[in-house]
Amino acid sequence: MSLPTEAGDLEAFLSSAKSICVLTGAGVSQESGVPTFRGADGLWRKFRAEDLATPEAFARDPLLVWEWYAWRRELIHRAQPNAAHMALVELEDRIAAQPGGRFTLLTQNVDGLHERAGSRNVIRLHGSIWRLRCTRCDTEREDRAVPLDPFPPRCACSALLRPGVVWFGEPLPEREWAQAAQAAAQADLFLVVGTSALVQPAASLPLIAKQNRARLVEINPDPTPLSDLADCVVRGKAAETLGKLRKASEPRP
Ligand code: NAD
Ligand code: ZN
Repeated sequence: MSLPTEAGDLEAFLSSAKSICVLTGAGVSQESGVPTFRGADGLWRKFRAEDLATPEAFARDPLLVWEWYAWRRELIHRAQPNAAHMALVELEDRIAAQPGGRFTLLTQNVDGLHERAGSRNVIRLHGSIWRLRCTRCDTEREDRAVPLDPFPPRCACSALLRPGVVWFGEPLPEREWAQAAQAAAQADLFLVVGTSALVQPAASLPLIAKQNRARLVEINPDPTPLSDLADCVVRGKAAETLGKLRKASEPRP
């Protein structure tokens, strides 16, 4: 099995690592049909982020924001995990089975596709589109109904519920951030897949890893601010690239 040089490097890096941390972004779900925010078919081409994914936008026009989230929930509900999600499950299984092996998946995605694929040690940095949180009493619950009924959804206390995601200008959940920073600092290989690496503080996790001497690998069809720092860059799509690795690691007869 011969892979392009960079993918060959990736394979070698993956097989020698003991402590792997992966950071994923919207690009990992693009081949499942979930649009990214930035990039060719990015959502922000049609909508303005500041109109939809901020606390101010929700305060101004909750129905508009909810309609956009309802549309995304429907899209994600129909989507299936792809070969990239599956390859990360297999990688976790392989690493976790090794003595002293550690695998942590840090995701900026709110779609839940990693969990649906079977990933276990997932840290959700930006929340979940399937969780709803009360704007008055902070009660939170999981709700996978598509469509939501009533719409927009309300809490038992009668106040409006909001999507359980982190909006622009909001802090990350403290516990998740602390766990993510610790996992990044302890990784010997840090793999960044399908993120524009522009949204802070998530984008600083690869730098934390690099400062602690991890090897940095990027999989993305387009350059990002991390590309120049990476020890290996695979300019390809997530499912295509990681899918090939899955085939490469299949036992041969
Ligand atoms: P982003 O839209 O800013 O960047 C997407 C990146 O993915 C780009 O660098 C693009 O080149 C790359 N990409 C596109 N197709 C790809 C593919 N097939 N394989 C690999 N890479 C591909 O997304 P982001 O970096 O995740 O950050 C923005 C924010 O968007 C995050 O906060 C996240 O919560 C949110 N978001 C989540 C989802 C989701 O849950 N699926 C979707 C859109 C946005
Ligand atoms: Zn309430």
